[in-house]
Amino acid sequence: MEAGGKVKAWEETGAGKTEGTADMERNRNLDRIHIRNLEVFGKHGVLPEENRLGQKFRINAVLYTHTRKAGLKDDLTKTIHYGEVSRFMTSFMVEHTFQLIETAAEQMARALLLTFPAMEKIRLEIEKPWAPIGLPLEAVSVEIQRGWHHVFVALGSNLGNREEYLEQGIESLRNLEDCVVEQVSEILATRPYGMTEQPDFLNGMVKLRTLLTPWELLEQLHRIEQAAGRERLVHWGPRTLDLDIIFYDDCVIDTPELTIPHPDMQNREFVLKPLTELAPWIRHPLLGKTAARLLEEL
Ligand code: ATP
Ligand code: CA
Ligand code: CA
Repeated sequence: MEAGGKVKAWEETGAGKTEGTADMERNRNLDRIHIRNLEVFGKHGVLPEENRLGQKFRINAVLYTHTRKAGLKDDLTKTIHYGEVSRFMTSFMVEHTFQLIETAAEQMARALLLTFPAMEKIRLEIEKPWAPIGLPLEAVSVEIQRGWHHVFVALGSNLGNREEYLEQGIESLRNLEDCVVEQVSEILATRPYGMTEQPDFLNGMVKLRTLLTPWELLEQLHRIEQAAGRERLVHWGPRTLDLDIIFYDDCVIDTPELTIPHPDMQNREFVLKPLTELAPWIRHPLLGKTAARLLEEL
């Protein structure tokens, strides 16, 4: 039944709205472009000699993307140009000096993901074949995997100038480093939940992609809430701005400071309505039901 429901949701919403939100499904089957043993002479290292004399580094990378369109049309503009990526990596390694290859890998992965929009994910290995540790090893290397994550953030306000707080919240999300706001839902007015003796809420939903981890994102959301004058007086009490992470990819996180998916979302119309507007087909990783279905069942 759920499979049927999903197809229905696709048909009902039309291409325009689902285009931007289909990526979570598509990203399960990414194609890979490999760059093997790109050699660069750089000056990274903890020892002053390494920064002065420099040494050889070797880079291996797997670029995760969709090559289907390029493959069908034989069109370079529809894929990631591995020549450009290799040149970018070379310049990056030459123009910067880091102590750690961890830092070189972290910063380079970020720069690549921000520069090449078709790159969903990258696995990056930086190797130091001449690592000066006084022992004859063949090479040391650091390998990381970084990529875009797809997130839904719910917004709520019921104190002061609510429209303005929501707008300020959305604007702050747009200005967040390493985040790209992709869609914003309609704003809707709702009766308060939990503690009912308080002003009505305005609620909305934002879809964004981010390079931040869930915990880093939560920290940024707290910062934005505080900038909007949020005070935590009573749980579920009135607030100028509330930002909750509803989904982060299809991650399941259950820690005291962070629960994803948001543990009560399936019981909240003010979450499911705007979520269904943006991504009716999106499936709750624990309940196994789409947003449209959860809303229907409420
Ligand atoms: P509710 O979470 O039921 O909507 P609330 O939003 O009013 O209630 P807050 O006082 O805003 O609750 O948040 C309390 C704490 O919840 C935050 O400090 C944060 O650490 C934690 N938290 C856990 N999971 C999430 C999540 N998915 N998104 C945002 N905060 C979360
Ligand atoms: Ca909340
Ligand atoms: Ca909250």
